Amino acid sequence: MLMRYMMKHAFVNGSVITVDKNDTVAEALLIEDNKIVMCGSNEEIRKAAGSDAGTTNLKGRTLMPGLIDSHYHPILNGLLGPGPDAAMIDTFKDNCGSLKEMLDMIREAVSLKKPGEWVSMMGYEPSFFPEKRHPTLKELDEIAPENPVHCMHGGGHICMYNTKALEYLGVYGPEDAKKYPRDEVEVIDGELTGMVRGHTHFRLWGQVDYPQEAQAKAAMKSQDHCLRNGITSIHDCGELDKPSYHIMQKLCRQRKFKVRSYMMLHSIFGKPFSKEDNDHWMKLGLMSGLGDEHFKIGTCKFMIDGGSGGPSCYTREPYTHDPSLPREKGWERDEVAEYIKEINDAECQASAHAIGDGAVEFMVSGYEKAFETDPRPDLRHRIEHCTLSDQDLIERMAKMNICPSVNVGMIAFQGANYERFFGPERSRYACAVRSMLDAGVCCSFQSDTPSGPAGLTLIDAAVNRYDRTKGVQCDRTQAVSVMEAIRCATVNGAYGAYEEDIKGSLEPGKLADIIILSDDILKVDPMNIDKIKIDMTIIDGVVEYKRDDLQRQLPDL
Ligand SMILES: [Zn+2]
Repeated sequence: MLMRYMMKHAFVNGSVITVDKNDTVAEALLIEDNKIVMCGSNEEIRKAAGSDAGTTNLKGRTLMPGLIDSHYHPILNGLLGPGPDAAMIDTFKDNCGSLKEMLDMIREAVSLKKPGEWVSMMGYEPSFFPEKRHPTLKELDEIAPENPVHCMHGGGHICMYNTKALEYLGVYGPEDAKKYPRDEVEVIDGELTGMVRGHTHFRLWGQVDYPQEAQAKAAMKSQDHCLRNGITSIHDCGELDKPSYHIMQKLCRQRKFKVRSYMMLHSIFGKPFSKEDNDHWMKLGLMSGLGDEHFKIGTCKFMIDGGSGGPSCYTREPYTHDPSLPREKGWERDEVAEYIKEINDAECQASAHAIGDGAVEFMVSGYEKAFETDPRPDLRHRIEHCTLSDQDLIERMAKMNICPSVNVGMIAFQGANYERFFGPERSRYACAVRSMLDAGVCCSFQSDTPSGPAGLTLIDAAVNRYDRTKGVQCDRTQAVSVMEAIRCATVNGAYGAYEEDIKGSLEPGKLADIIILSDDILKVDPMNIDKIKIDMTIIDGVVEYKRDDLQRQLPDL
């Protein structure tokens, strides 16, 4: 049962992490309706609350601002489902343990479809499979001779398609691969492999049909995921074009989608579509930040390179583990600079997906060029993921007030792989949160859901730099304190969306977006942060989520 607290409500006997500029930790907090009234000692709060206010005894647990996930794909994530009838079948590790299992899933899905209907799936990572490989074109064709198959890697940037799907690209044989940029339709030893990369893959993905009803349902499913993970705001980093933007705005307006959303104008179907969306917005003269505290239009976002998981990102030097692998980039340096200038001149916030240090360098030098004629540190331009960088790039970001949204949770998920792919030198600057904070860069944390883990895992990864999937301690050069990580996961995300005046910390007048944890996060052994649960998620002063087994412990709610 959801409820709004009556008028005033006090939370006492807790570890109230305010995330104010002094990192104050208080005992108690008072809210009234949907706003924070004050933080203070138990006594101060009880006195200010008066006799008719409700009270929650925190019993030593942490209460803190709700998490702001600065890169999340709610519709994409919600389309994923475990069963063969899902709009996009989940083949992430927990739902699919081997290549054999994945092929069986496709077989089952095909049996439920009419000929010609797409089978879509996402999530697998060959290194997690005992077979250690992708499916082959032949395997996919045998199982699905009449249905196009979209079998996407967890990172989203590479995908295996069958012959029926490749026909949509006009690819009938290896010769046809030449119609597309190099390496995007893979040919090995004169044969198509079924692997399609980068922008060509996104273009083909755009042919998969996901009905609007399924998209709306998907968003609501992701809301549950957010609430369970203590996320009270997301920066929605790209969906399926117009129907998705419309669906999200409508759900937010109807207050069905309670998590606050900052919607980037970005089509996951690739460059021409994304450009079209952004260009249209700029042509109308509108600026980032338009909307209300429930739904806002965010950055003009585009996407430069590939993913970190495959890997397929654009690094300056070849990958360490396999120098022959293609490093994907969909934009050239000058193009990036030109586009940034256009966005900067339109007084919009720019951002691009940039994972490899080559792509990050394109962004940084693009901003420098735009700032030569019109320096706009106030626009708080961004870089999405910003996975690989170095000291020089970070210092240049600091000078321009660039606000990277860092996919730090990937260290807990893929950290050991990063060290293998990029070698010790470069991976010392993987998700370089320590160096960014030291240089004065306001970086925020993102999950990139569904590609990476969400919630407190981001704090765990930033503090411990421990790969939870493989049980491997990664390099700790970039480790930060728990308090620093909390700051990145809350108020820094608000700053990256021009919203630090209304949320991200527990200060008088700010929105009552609050989470309660099962422990005191500042006192537990940091290695156990991953065991802490979200007990409660409150948005706009309303309890939207309460952990099931809490009913008896908290009779006053
Ligand atoms: Zn993303």
